[in-house]
Amino acid sequence: MNLMLMLFFSGIVACCGNSTGNPLSRLLLVSFDGFRADYLKTYELPHLQEFIEDGVLVRQVTNTFITKTFPNHYSIVTGLYEESHGMVANDMYDADAQKTFSQFNDSDPFWWNEAVPIWVTNQQGNRASAAAMWPGTDVKIHNTTPQFFMKYNFSVTFEERVEKIVTWLNSSNPPVSFATLYWEEPDASGHKYGPDNTKNMRKVLEQVDNHIGFLTSKLKALGLWDTVNVIITSDHGMAPCSAKKLIILDGCIGRNNYTLIDKSPVAAVLPRQNKTYVYNLLKNCNDHMKVYLKEEIPERFHYRHNKRIQPIILVADEGWTIVQNESLSKLGDHGYDNALPSMHPFLAAHGPAFHRGYKQSRMNNVDIYPMMCHILGLTPQPHNGTFRNAKCLLVDQWCINLPEAIGIVIGALIVLTTFTCIIIISKNRIPSPHPFSRLQLQDDDDDPLIG
Ligand SMILES: [Zn+2]
Repeated sequence: MNLMLMLFFSGIVACCGNSTGNPLSRLLLVSFDGFRADYLKTYELPHLQEFIEDGVLVRQVTNTFITKTFPNHYSIVTGLYEESHGMVANDMYDADAQKTFSQFNDSDPFWWNEAVPIWVTNQQGNRASAAAMWPGTDVKIHNTTPQFFMKYNFSVTFEERVEKIVTWLNSSNPPVSFATLYWEEPDASGHKYGPDNTKNMRKVLEQVDNHIGFLTSKLKALGLWDTVNVIITSDHGMAPCSAKKLIILDGCIGRNNYTLIDKSPVAAVLPRQNKTYVYNLLKNCNDHMKVYLKEEIPERFHYRHNKRIQPIILVADEGWTIVQNESLSKLGDHGYDNALPSMHPFLAAHGPAFHRGYKQSRMNNVDIYPMMCHILGLTPQPHNGTFRNAKCLLVDQWCINLPEAIGIVIGALIVLTTFTCIIIISKNRIPSPHPFSRLQLQDDDDDPLIG
């Protein structure tokens, strides 16, 4: 009896330890920086399309505000809004600690320790994580780096990054169950040429697509294609900007009144003296710039409750650039309102945990974290994501696709109504019998039949 119970419970553990029933699910998370969702429709990307046809696609991913690189990469791997994980901008200042953060000075764990990224949680069992340049993976967050990682260096080619990652995925002890891979394009070209410069963007997106082809061929050659789950996504999109759409702060306020901590298109302002005075000058500066006191920042941005968010925040309208007085050196930018479609990336995924040929219109980037934890069989840290939003992508989940469900209900109602109408009409056409009409007797019928 005891033996039978043991077998029963070990069966449950084996079945429900992770999403695939496999004792070790593996997951590779890939980001192509600044890959706007609609590039998928505008450009021919045969390798990515093939990946999608054999997997799943989320056409638009709503990212977190502000739609910048460091904040969104950290939201993807923690499932937290920026106010909760503390990586609130690419340039930050912490008044209490008197520390500054920038992309050139990003390795102090102080900035990262307000959250626990998935690669740290993943290493708490007998598993390892590996990383090729995903932001933060070369920092000792909670005293831990991925067991295998590369120090960030933009001059390392994509192929070199992939070679490292597949080697780690294939031959490590303890096994590498979670890996990340990061590439700087098409973001760099989007800034340089603007996202609407189809000639140059086509060129860079062809390269990105070839990189995807290289990655999939490597995975296939090493026998990892059918066993490793792969997510390809991005941190944000890109909007065209121009020198004709400048918001010049020097025309509104003297520089000695404030310190500019973070710049366009969401500028973080630390007043040096009277906050109200600085606020009022900025408030009336330009119609294409919203000015918020920290406590007035709209709730939907989830961008208020962190001391690294500065007392005054300026948000430029799409395509506009906030400068003090400098000229504009780029034709594309991001960071704007995260409700704008131009700021949204996409998500595609392939592997044993995912359906084949399934597409859905939206999810949030904070939903990716609980989905990844589910695939890896990890208990998630507290987060802002909703696992339900990812259920339809996964083979081991039952889900209701809302538009489909509404369609089915409406269809059923139409059939039912039509059927009822047919019954009513046909009933009305049959002459009704007179079950209780009296028998009309003739006079001569009075004769008794039986005499
Ligand atoms: Zn980016």
